[in-house]
Amino acid sequence: KKVADRYLKREVLGEGTYGVVYKAIDTKTGQTVAIKKIRLGKQKEGVNFTALREIKLLKELKDPNIIELIDAFPHKGNLHLVFEFMETDLEAVIRDRNIVLSPADIKSYLQMTLKGLAFCHKKWVLHRDMKPNNLLIGSRGQLKLADFGLARIFGSPDRRFTHQVFARWYRAPELLFGAKAYGPAVDVWAAACIFAELLLRRPFLQGNSDIDQLGKIFAAFGTPKPSQWPDMQYLPDYVEYQYVTGQPFRQLFPMASDDALDLLSKMFMYDPKARISAQQALEHRYFSSGPPPTEPALLPRPP
Ligand code: ADP
Repeated sequence: KKVADRYLKREVLGEGTYGVVYKAIDTKTGQTVAIKKIRLGKQKEGVNFTALREIKLLKELKDPNIIELIDAFPHKGNLHLVFEFMETDLEAVIRDRNIVLSPADIKSYLQMTLKGLAFCHKKWVLHRDMKPNNLLIGSRGQLKLADFGLARIFGSPDRRFTHQVFARWYRAPELLFGAKAYGPAVDVWAAACIFAELLLRRPFLQGNSDIDQLGKIFAAFGTPKPSQWPDMQYLPDYVEYQYVTGQPFRQLFPMASDDALDLLSKMFMYDPKARISAQQALEHRYFSSGPPPTEPALLPRPP
């Protein structure tokens, strides 16, 4: 049976933040797609209308490193979002113990991530919930960012569903302190956590509550001084933490090159105003010095 007279439903791919995701064939193009069914449930009709208008803007967001939103339509009280189908994701790559990631491979994955981010930030769209399983990998090794802009439209996932614990590990300190006015720097922090995870092959800052998450961040980098982050004390949920010194960057990432460490430290700046932008990060010498990033098609992937 076809959905919306166009999509042939196949198996369920998984249960995501916003609802069930299933595989389907687009009979119009023959392309394999992933359809995300979003429960609109209790929301008022006006909200749906806003959502649909915003979704229309996301359809215009086309870039080689962004998952294409092919179609969007309401069906039986659910909103259906149709995306291009992707083989695997970066979490599966990082977790696979048989995969060796060379410095050139890590550079390639980070570059594709930052390219996708820089493109969206240029259009004033934030991701807001970046994590390795949102970085999907296609059949030719190309990495594409998924779920762009959805957090803003449908609300932050972890506020809606408590099972969503992973997103916290990628959360910027300004968000953990309750900042209401935040910007693209939150995505750069998340990208830094993913960069660190590629180097360490395990999630870098694994907090088990929001308070603990800040504790983990401070234990790594030291409690921020007011001189490092002047606006910190004005954030809604700001509380004073006991002062800790943190570790030298070199000690946290013994396997990283000097250029990698320098870029990482700029992406992990406490003050969002001082944090490097995605575009500036792409222009950092880490990407122009050797080794060159691996061609996407040659990147190691799970079988
Ligand atoms: P989460 O909200 O936890 O990030 P998602 O809603 O993005 O999860 O996805 C749920 C499941 O569907 C995951 O297992 C994911 O791998 C799969 N999935 C999501 N989008 C795609 C896609 N474009 N192609 C293939 N699989 C996808």
